[in-house]
Amino acid sequence: MRIILLGPPGSGKGTQASLLSEKLGFPKIATGDLLREAVRQQTPLGLKAKAVMERGELVSDELVGEIVQERITQPDCQSGYILDGFPRNVNQALFLERIDGARTEIVIDLEVDEEEIIRRLSARRICPQCQAVYNLEGKLPRHEGKCDNCQADLIQREDDRPEVIRKRLEVYRHQTRPLVEYYKGKGNYQKIKGDGKIEEVFQAIYSWIKQFIPAELRR
Ligand code: AMP
Repeated sequence: MRIILLGPPGSGKGTQASLLSEKLGFPKIATGDLLREAVRQQTPLGLKAKAVMERGELVSDELVGEIVQERITQPDCQSGYILDGFPRNVNQALFLERIDGARTEIVIDLEVDEEEIIRRLSARRICPQCQAVYNLEGKLPRHEGKCDNCQADLIQREDDRPEVIRKRLEVYRHQTRPLVEYYKGKGNYQKIKGDGKIEEVFQAIYSWIKQFIPAELRR
């Protein structure tokens, strides 16, 4: 099984992917997190991706495809995995189909209006070490400016600055949005309102995907 979380930046894909991962025991694969880690470690991939990410544009399909292929062929992905931030365009969806087309595929499209997205992204802070996400207007860390898990200093993502947020939304509209029609055509696609409380959104997602989950995996 594969669960794909679609939706604009700031729609809660990462948060919901983590909750689904806990509930189902499938790994969460977030291409943005993998890329940010590569940038932090200054790997050859990170060096290529850094400037593109800071501009809010998409890293090349070849680079991202390579890291996804490498990750989904690991043993822990055998029963299932959850994708957050991949695919980002139709070409990447076709690639995924080519390398791993036989699985049941479920697509959740989180819908949040643009004003709310800008508000959420501007207030978002992340832990550069464990990638935990906080929000100055919502989920605050226990100690100001410090990660609850690893006590690292929280930072604002370079691409959560207003001018880059605008660019990322434009990239989403032009390159990622066409995926909705692609996945609607394939079936197992569901739009879910993402502007409620985290737990309410999760319940809405889970009550829809339950029908696809084999009884032995339901918890
Ligand atoms: P995210 O954390 O998903 O918002 O991703 C942060 C940035 O990483 C994006 O703005 C892109 O520059 C890059 N990125 C993440 N996933 C992909 C992808 N599937 N294809 C291309 N670029 C990506």
